[in-house]
Amino acid sequence: MAKKVLVLGEAREGELRNVSFEAIAAGKDVAAGGEVVGVIFGENVTELGNEMITYGADRVIVVNNEKLKNYTPDGYSQALLQVIENESPEGIVMGHTSIGKDLSPKIAAKLEAGLISDATGVEADGDDVVFVRPIYSGKAFEKKKVKEGTVIATVRPNNIKPLEKDESRSGEVSELDVDIKDLRTIIKDIVRKTSTGVDLSEANIIVSGGRGVKSAEGFEPLKELADVLGAAVGASRGACDAGYCDYSLQIGQTGKVVTPDLYIACGISGAIQHLAGMSNSKVIVAINKDPEANIFSVADYGIVGDLFEVVPLLTEEFKKV
Ligand code: FAD
Repeated sequence: MAKKVLVLGEAREGELRNVSFEAIAAGKDVAAGGEVVGVIFGENVTELGNEMITYGADRVIVVNNEKLKNYTPDGYSQALLQVIENESPEGIVMGHTSIGKDLSPKIAAKLEAGLISDATGVEADGDDVVFVRPIYSGKAFEKKKVKEGTVIATVRPNNIKPLEKDESRSGEVSELDVDIKDLRTIIKDIVRKTSTGVDLSEANIIVSGGRGVKSAEGFEPLKELADVLGAAVGASRGACDAGYCDYSLQIGQTGKVVTPDLYIACGISGAIQHLAGMSNSKVIVAINKDPEANIFSVADYGIVGDLFEVVPLLTEEFKKV
């Protein structure tokens, strides 16, 4: 049955995050031939509306409000609930990002709607759709659907292919005024902790370090390799716990879940909790001096050796490309 589906476009520093386009693709599947309506919150973000159209949205609602410049739980939920009241959608899709993870349960609770979080795929199921989502730290997948009422879903970044960008598509981009009551949280400043400026959860390539890097300085060769590859730097919890890097870099069960095209694990043993965050990467390269290290069990390519010798060699070779 054709549905009207709202898709949240996440604006950050004047650009839409890629996951917004992936959410549109998922939203199209949920809509099953119905209307996909993009929603963007921020300050001066109207010009981003058209980009959602080129990626498949049928029309876009933009809410410009200084209180929405940065994400706050109460600001965004007030704004989204007003859009929902106006539009009465049958589906709502957003990225499984720090925003989506926080916002979606709030909205689902308010609407008393079913929420499927962290979906990595959407499949047709007769008149309905089912969402595929990993369980047991990525060891198995389950298929879930919302049986009645509004369908709310978050999609894991880097898993659902966005539609081909089509500049010839056109659609209405309209501005909506919403009434945002006093916010309980005010964002004063955002401090980025990524070393290369590439967002870890959306990175196509990640160079990740474990306790094997031995110190904060030990991350330097990894950062150099990441710079050459245009990659983000990640870490195991072992490296974070040892104080070699910030916890914002942690990948794994209690850190970020990533699915880049290429994951280069340096000095990481491959504990189950780490694998939970990266084992769905498309190609995994492991560098470890212990040939028995568990990381090799998930690696497509393994290099048994000292990362302080191997990583600089890789950097030099990639510089030549
Ligand atoms: P280690 O296990 O100490 O491995 C270091 C590796 O470096 C070894 O394999 C060694 O051979 C190799 N090495 C050493 N020197 C070199 C060198 N010069 N060159 C090449 N290789 C070298 N962990 C996570 O990563 N993410 C999580 O989200 C997470 N969540 C957890 C949640 C819970 C509830 C628990 C209990 C644990 C969690 N952990 C998590 C911790 C996890 O169990 C491991 O302790 C951790 O992943 C180990 O980090 P590591 O691989 O860097 O360190």
